[in-house]
Amino acid sequence: MKSCPVRGGQQLSENEMDEGGQFSFYKDAQGRWWRTQMPWRCCEEVMFSGQCQGLLNHEGLHWAYSSSGDFCWNNSLAGYSGQTPPDHEDYRDPLLMRPLHYTQKELDRFLVEDPDEIARLEAGDLEEGESTIISIEDL
Ligand SMILES: [Zn+2]
Repeated sequence: MKSCPVRGGQQLSENEMDEGGQFSFYKDAQGRWWRTQMPWRCCEEVMFSGQCQGLLNHEGLHWAYSSSGDFCWNNSLAGYSGQTPPDHEDYRDPLLMRPLHYTQKELDRFLVEDPDEIARLEAGDLEEGESTIISIEDL
C-alpha cells in the first residue's frame, strides 16, 4: 500500500481523491491571484530519478527524466527498469512527453477574492501541500 498521494502529511481517502488534484496559486500580470487545481501525480518511484512524472493512474511505463537528461523508466508489471540516454534511438524527447507530464494538465481555476487569503498569499504564507506558480512571462 502506497502512502500517496498525501496532503498535509496525511494520506488521502478515496473521497478526498475524488475531489481531485492538488492546488497551486498563480499571480497574473494584473496582480490577481488564481487558485488552480492540478491532477494528482503518479506515486511510483523510477530508478535513478525519483518520483514518476506522469499523472496518477496513467497507462504504460512509469517515467521521469534524470538531472542529466536521461529518460528513466520503470515497467512495474514486468518488473524491470532502465535509463535511456539522449543519443539513443529509443530516447523519448521531453517535448513529446510534455503533454503527459503531471504539471501540464489543469483541472480548474478560480479567482481568489477573499482579502484574507490574498494577504496570506502575498505574504508567502503557504500551507503544507500548497505551492505558487510564477509564469515565465512575468519574470
Ligand atoms: Zn507513473
